[in-house]
Amino acid sequence: MSDLVQRACPVCGAGAAVEVHRHRFSALAGVDLDGFEQSLLSCEDCGTHYVGEYLSPAALARYYAHSSSYEYLVSEQALPREEAQRSQQQHAFLRPYLKAGARVLDVGCSTGYTLSLFAEDGHQAHGIEPSSVLSQMARERYGLRVDTCFVERADQLPPGQDLVMLSHVLEHLMAPAPMLAAIRASLGPGGRLFIEIPVIELFDERDLFQLSFEHVNYFSHGSLSNLMHRCGFREVEHQVFENDDGTSPHYPTLASLWEVADDAAALPRVNRARHDRAVLRRYLQLVARHTEQTDALIRQLMDAGRRVAIWGGGTLTAQLLAKSALGHYREQLLGILDVDPKKHGLQMQSMPVWQPDSAQGQALLAGAEAVIIGSWSSQDAIHAALRQRGVAESRIVRLFSTPH
Ligand SMILES: [Zn+2]
Repeated sequence: MSDLVQRACPVCGAGAAVEVHRHRFSALAGVDLDGFEQSLLSCEDCGTHYVGEYLSPAALARYYAHSSSYEYLVSEQALPREEAQRSQQQHAFLRPYLKAGARVLDVGCSTGYTLSLFAEDGHQAHGIEPSSVLSQMARERYGLRVDTCFVERADQLPPGQDLVMLSHVLEHLMAPAPMLAAIRASLGPGGRLFIEIPVIELFDERDLFQLSFEHVNYFSHGSLSNLMHRCGFREVEHQVFENDDGTSPHYPTLASLWEVADDAAALPRVNRARHDRAVLRRYLQLVARHTEQTDALIRQLMDAGRRVAIWGGGTLTAQLLAKSALGHYREQLLGILDVDPKKHGLQMQSMPVWQPDSAQGQALLAGAEAVIIGSWSSQDAIHAALRQRGVAESRIVRLFSTPH
C-alpha cells in the first residue's frame, strides 16, 4: 500500500491545479520516503494553495508517533511562557463575546491551559485532543473534561456550543470542510467559531520556514473566507496577532471569529489566484536568498576541511542534508545530536541521532571542530546548551542572524 495519497483543493474540491513550488524533505524520522518532495499547488478554480501529494493517514500516524514535538509540553513543570501568552491573547480576544456560563469547546486543546482560562471565568469548558498524554494532563492539571480523539475523525461534536476554538489546527487538516460542518452543527444559537492560523500575507523574514512538512493548507485571508463561506460561516471580526513579544509561534498569525450564516449560498467566493500566487512568489524569493547565504556559510566551513556535527534532528537538518552543500561533504560530517528522546536511535541519511549527554554524544561534541545549530526556533536554547557543555563560541555555527 502506498504511503502517499493525492489531494484535491481543500476549499473548493477542484482537482485542477498548477504547481508553484517543490519542497524537498529528506530522511524524515519515522517516514520511509527517501528524498520525499512536497508539491505546493495553487487551485485553478479558487486560487487556494495546498500540498498535493501527502502521507496516507497510516503513514502520517507513524510520522507523528516518531517526530511530533508537541508532547514536549508534558515534561515541563509549567507551561512555557510563550505558550501561556498565546492562550492569554486568545482569551482576551474572545472574552467580550461570551455571556455568563457559556459553553466553550477547544478542538485540539493540548494541555488545556487555554480552556482553563475560560473555566476560571465560570464558563463550561470542554476539550478534544488527539494525544492521550496531553489530554490526560489537561484532566489532571485543570480538572477539565477532555475527550481523546483525532480531530479529523470528530464527525460528531457535543451540541449547543457558544464558542468553538480551532487554534493552529486548520492548516494541518487534510479535509477541513467536514470538520467545519461538524463544528457548525455543534454550535448553539448565536454560537461562534474562533480560528487562528498562519496566513501567506504575513509570511516574511521573521520566519523562513513557513513551508512546514506538517502544514498541508496555506491559506490567505481570502482563501480562508472562501472555505468558511462554502461551509456556511460569515466573519464577525479578524485581527493580526503580531506575536513579536515572544508569544508562540513567534511569527504573526491571523485570528478570526465566525458565526453561522443562514444565507450561505449568497456569500461571495472569489478566485484568489492572482493575489495569493504573487504573495507566495515574493516569500519564496526571500527564502531562496537566505538558502543561498546558508549554503555559502556551510560551503566555507566544509571547504576549510572542518569536521562538523549538527545539533537538531528535525526538519531543518533534513532540509540541509537534502538541499545544502552539507550533503556533498558526508565524510566531514560526524553525526547528529538531539535532546528529544523520540529521535534517539533514528537515522537521518544513514547517520544516527545521539543524545548529547550519551557517550557517543559527548565524543561527537569533543571531536567536532564545528557544531552547526540545526534549528531555527530553538537556536538560542541550543546555543546555550552548547556553551553549558563547554563548546567554545568559535566552534558554534549559527545559521540565523535574527534573534527572536
Ligand atoms: Zn479550489
